[in-house]
Amino acid sequence: MKKNPKYKKSSEIILIGQPISPGIAIGKSILLADDYIETRKRAIHVKKINSEIERFNKALTETIQDLRLIIEQVGSRVSAHKREIFDAHLMILQDKVIIEQTVNDIRENKVNADFAYFNIMRSYQRNLSASKDTYFKERAIDIRDIKRRVIRKIQGEKHAGSANLKDKIIISRNLNLFDIYAIAKNKVEGIILEGGGRTTHATIIIRALEIPSVIGVERILQNVNAEDEVVVNGLTGEIILNPDSPTLKKSITKRNNYKKFEQRYLGISDLPSVSKDNVAFEIDANIELDDEVESVLAHGDFGIGLFRSEYIFMAKEKPPTEEEQFVKYANVVKRIHPHHVSIRTIDLGGDKFAPFLEAEAENNPFLGWRAIRICIDMPDLFKIQLRAIYRAGILGNVRLLLPMITSIEELRYVKTLTEEVKLDLSNQNIEYDANIPIGVMIEVPSAVMIADQLAKEADFFSIGTNDLVQYALAVDRGNPKVAYLYNFFHPAVLRLIEMIVKAGNDHKIPVSMCGEMAGDPFATILLFGIGIKEFSVSPVMMLKIKQILRCLEFSEAQKIAGHCLKMQTADEIENYMRNVMLELFPNMDEDNFFPENC
Ligand code: PEP
Ligand code: MG
Repeated sequence: MKKNPKYKKSSEIILIGQPISPGIAIGKSILLADDYIETRKRAIHVKKINSEIERFNKALTETIQDLRLIIEQVGSRVSAHKREIFDAHLMILQDKVIIEQTVNDIRENKVNADFAYFNIMRSYQRNLSASKDTYFKERAIDIRDIKRRVIRKIQGEKHAGSANLKDKIIISRNLNLFDIYAIAKNKVEGIILEGGGRTTHATIIIRALEIPSVIGVERILQNVNAEDEVVVNGLTGEIILNPDSPTLKKSITKRNNYKKFEQRYLGISDLPSVSKDNVAFEIDANIELDDEVESVLAHGDFGIGLFRSEYIFMAKEKPPTEEEQFVKYANVVKRIHPHHVSIRTIDLGGDKFAPFLEAEAENNPFLGWRAIRICIDMPDLFKIQLRAIYRAGILGNVRLLLPMITSIEELRYVKTLTEEVKLDLSNQNIEYDANIPIGVMIEVPSAVMIADQLAKEADFFSIGTNDLVQYALAVDRGNPKVAYLYNFFHPAVLRLIEMIVKAGNDHKIPVSMCGEMAGDPFATILLFGIGIKEFSVSPVMMLKIKQILRCLEFSEAQKIAGHCLKMQTADEIENYMRNVMLELFPNMDEDNFFPENC
């Protein structure tokens, strides 16, 4: 386990975390609040009591002002139900009893405002959550949200939505998807998270935005102040706080070198995708939104192995219409033609929400109402998406990809729906592609165990290691407490991948991988050796993975994979693969990011 700070030199502090998005960023820090709040009890001196109460009142007033502004800005664009939520929030903020109780607690027990408010709000929240009535349960969520907003105000932290993020290095415990939307709108320099997971959807989007980032940096928030100079190394995971002037100079050179190497990578984009011994492979892109197609094309002429279509449904009061979806799919399909675009059908649930689903809170959302299960439960919603996809099919080369399949019945049922959709389109004289290949995401252990049966009825497989690892190792992919157990080098994961590849090969269907493992340079050779020939990765990794594969012999990769498959621990495998990379590419050091020996 890493212990931070790694070391301290003059005022400079070096910390280490997990790199998740390559590149080197240098800039001033901005500290952002996240969903998690921490309040510690502090004794307040009698003379400071009044100013503490003032601090509390100021935080309340500011929160009310913020909320009024939001209501003004978005009030007319949201549903009546959402407006009721805002009104409920205002009522809670102005509730005289809650305010009086907090003030009394500060005064009588001489405690800090955030601690007093937290305890009072928590007792209301608990009483309401215990209620059987849905209305009261919902109010408990309101209380929780307000509690967080006010406490963050008292503690003086900023929110992504309200802060000026331009050119800043964002430092936070965690980011939710709403923060990410704010980040996407600004030109952020770098991101450092104390928590975070390598495969959470926030991380996936950060990588898609090509922002140099490091996660899992223990104790960063204890060591950093707002406006500190910070260097983020998204290649090694190293963070330097307040670098002295020689370090800063060195970091600037390194950043410039990295940019030059990025240019060199662009130089290989048109070279053939074959290993040194002429074994062909394919590199595709993962995208979340249709406009990311620009970033794919900026790296070269590639297909799309995973289009996470649910992102066009998220944060929506109403699902997008068939026409709205068609326009988005058509745009991607046309731009990527003649390469294929695998449109994955809606994978909502888990950590991805859409208000229109009105889903109830679940104890285990990743094991619950998610992905294909929602689509099967809501065939009307699903068929609209299928219609849009089949119609877009005539504009290029579309593949349909089904998430979280756990049984052959699910695949068969979806196929009957596709037949119904095709028949409806024919009856309406609407053009569509009748021969779209239907593929299955293999991301649940049950699908691996029946991969030989699925392979007889599916046209292709795509391995989703992000979920496969969480379900196979029983490790929540977004929980930082167990992040140390989340490791795709685990021997069980490698054996599962080997089984999937074998089932695909036996039935002569293509097997690609679109989970984040496919874009990890230390896993590339191992995966190729196991038999993965299609890698679908975030655009920023496409040329890097391509260059590694071009510089290597498939037969060598097979030997390396064979060796790994005999090992017993994830650490052993990962260390071995790091050494393999060092041996194969000895020229790659801290300042050279380009494998050269091919
Ligand atoms: C996966 O699970 O590996 C995958 C690619 O899907 P997602 O990350 O969207 O769940
Ligand atoms: Mg998945």
